[in-house]
Formats: sequence, C-alpha cells, structure tokens
Amino acid sequence: MTSFQRSIASYEAQFGSKPKWVAHAPGRVNLIGEHIDYNDGFVLPAAIDRRLSIAASPVNHPEILIYSEQEKQQVHFSLDAPLLPSGKWTDYVIGVVEYWRRLETRPVGLKLAIASDVPYGSGLSSSAALEMAFATLIGEVWGLELDPVAKALKCQQVESDFVGMPCGIMDQFVVGLARKDYFLKIDCQSNTHEFIKAGEQFPALLIINSNVKHALTDGGYASRRAQCESALFKLGSASWRSVSMEQLSGSAGKLDEVELRRGRHVISEMHRTLEACERIQASDYQSLGELLYQSHFSLRDDFEVSCPELDWIVNRMQSLGGREGVYGCRITGGGFGGCAVSLVDPEAVKRVIQIIAHDYLEAFGVSAGFFLTQPSAGCALSKL
Ligand code: ADP
Ligand code: MG
Repeated sequence: MTSFQRSIASYEAQFGSKPKWVAHAPGRVNLIGEHIDYNDGFVLPAAIDRRLSIAASPVNHPEILIYSEQEKQQVHFSLDAPLLPSGKWTDYVIGVVEYWRRLETRPVGLKLAIASDVPYGSGLSSSAALEMAFATLIGEVWGLELDPVAKALKCQQVESDFVGMPCGIMDQFVVGLARKDYFLKIDCQSNTHEFIKAGEQFPALLIINSNVKHALTDGGYASRRAQCESALFKLGSASWRSVSMEQLSGSAGKLDEVELRRGRHVISEMHRTLEACERIQASDYQSLGELLYQSHFSLRDDFEVSCPELDWIVNRMQSLGGREGVYGCRITGGGFGGCAVSLVDPEAVKRVIQIIAHDYLEAFGVSAGFFLTQPSAGCALSKL
C-alpha cells in the first residue's frame, strides 16, 4: 500500500470514520550543492517518488489530534493554549500550527493520521515532507493558502526557530515546488528557482542508504554553519557568493586552517552546482558524474561531514566506474551517515546493486538499502 492509502487506513482505525482530505508531500534527494543552501549558494535537488501522507478531517472543538503510523502514538493539543516545542516528533506539526495561527487564519480543530515512505534521518528530508504536507492541509482548511515560496519559507522558519534545527531553505523549497521530470536549481541568495529538465536519456537515480547514522549529527551541522559564518566575517564579506577562490587563498593568514577548508568547499561546490546544471542540459552524464565524485571528496576532506561507510560506498562505486555503468556517486543530505545518490546506466542497476549489497555487508556487517527514484511532483492536497 502507498503512504496515501495507509494514511487513510490509519485514520479509519484511529478515529472510526473516513477522512475528508489527504495532504501529501515527497521526500527529496539533493543531486549536488551540499551544505551551501545556508551559504547563499546554489543547490540542485529533486523530489523523490516516496511520499509522506496526512489523512485529515475537521473536528468541532479547538483541538489537534495527531496519530503517526511510524511513532504508533496519538497525541492531542489544545488550540486554546500556547504551543511550545517539546523536543518530540510532534514539534514539526505543532510548529506549523503555531506559525500559521499568527497569520490571518481561522484555526479549526483537526484529526490527523500520518503515514510515510520517507525514512527518518536518512538525508531524504522526512521533516520538510511532514511540515509541508501539513502546511498544505491547513492552507486549505484554515482558509489561507500561501504561495509555494512563502509556504516553504515559513516552514523553514518552523524547523529552524521552533524545532531548533537551523536548516537552510532547500528542503522545504523543493518539497513545495518540485515538478515531475525536473531538478530544481535554487538560488539560495535570492530565493529564486529554475527548473532543469532531466532529459530522456538521464541515467537511473539510485539511492543507496548506508543505514548508519553517526551521533555527531546535530552539533556537526550547527558547528559547520558557525565555522562558515566566522570565516565570512573574517573575510569581511557579506556573502559567500561574492568571495572568489583567489580571495580566499589570499586571506589565508586571517582564517584558521579549518575555516579555510570550509570556505574552499563552499566556493568550489557553488561552481560544481552551476556546472552540473549545464552538464544536464547538454546530456553529458559522464562529466556530471565526475562532479558528483568531486563534491563527495570536498564534503569528505574540506567540510568533513562524511563517514567511513559513505566513503566506502562512493569509492566502491567509483571503482566499478564507467565499465560497470556507474557515472557518479556522492553523499547526499546533511551528512554523518544516511544516503548516497548515484547515477547509473539503467541496464547496469541490477548488477551494481548486487555487488554493493554483497561487499558492503561484508565490510561493515550492516545491510545497505537501495531504491531507484525519479524526479517527482511536489506537495499537494486531495479531497476525498
Ligand atoms: P530527515 O529530514 O533527513 O529525514 P530530520 O532529523 O530532519 O531527518 O527529521 C526527522 C524527524 O522528523 C523525525 O525524527 C520525526 O521527529 C519527524 N518525522 C518525520 N516523518 C515522520 C512521521 N512519519 N511521523 C512522525 N514524525 C516524523
Ligand atoms: Mg530534515
């Protein structure tokens, strides 16, 4: 069953009636442009064909009742009381409630059941899928449908200020705006976007889940942001967009060694992302794949957000190389574990999966997960 169908089934089992709507939103994969959304860079994600769905109906008292199939838990919140973060999964939903309540809306109570095919914490952005699906729902029910960009920006505020995860704009943007068969190039300085079509011959997009998550995650992300900010301050620039590689190396005396490397990643990754858009438009998948490897090595060495398991996957994929139909591979998402994104000749996918699955299990004693995906549509609401 799809998450759409499961959300309806969960709703019926929890509340004993039929839902009126299903709001649904995709996870996303970032092809290239990593850790630069919060540095005024460019990113190039696509929505994936795995979705999170929320079945819902109104209730006639001021309360939100939420059930999550993943959490196997039903939680209630009163709309008459202030809503504060609790550090739990419900923050992503009640944060949206809280931020939308501050707008000119007519809050009504709701019963919700959530089901999802977007795994948690694997770099595929289940959090933005949850926020954006719910924001889409209350846009309709509370009578305030924001335009997709405004909605994405508000959900990003929820995640960064209410949930306390200082994320950039990429996840909510692509979850909200994505189109089938397109990557979304986002200019994170101007918050503008452009659709880049994945041509007919575009290779298979194979996601490899390392199924590991290293503890560094939260602090690791925040400290990378802080290092980028302090480096920029020492450079005396307002934005990484205006810092050239020459300027960075010319300022070596002002920055410490770590800041220099962080800056080198930010600037080189911006170039790679722009180059990747051109390579897609030219259907040059060999060079596109090469950019993916370079991005990975930069994230590994200069930004230090990889881990042994993901390095192993990327190296093994690279050693299979063009001969075995592998164009490129890199870690995707925040890092320290999670998934790799790779471009593979469709004919070669089965064999590549067999080899990596076997060798990865042997190397780490953990099974890797694999799934093929394709650029898919953004969040939407279905009336039942
Ligand atoms: P990612 O966005 O990469 O998947 P995050 O740590 O940003 O990882 O967000 C994952 C969190 O989002 C989960 O720990 C949980 O709190 C919340 N979440 C995501 N999907 C669901 C769901 N189906 N039900 C309940 N909470 C969810
Ligand atoms: Mg997230």
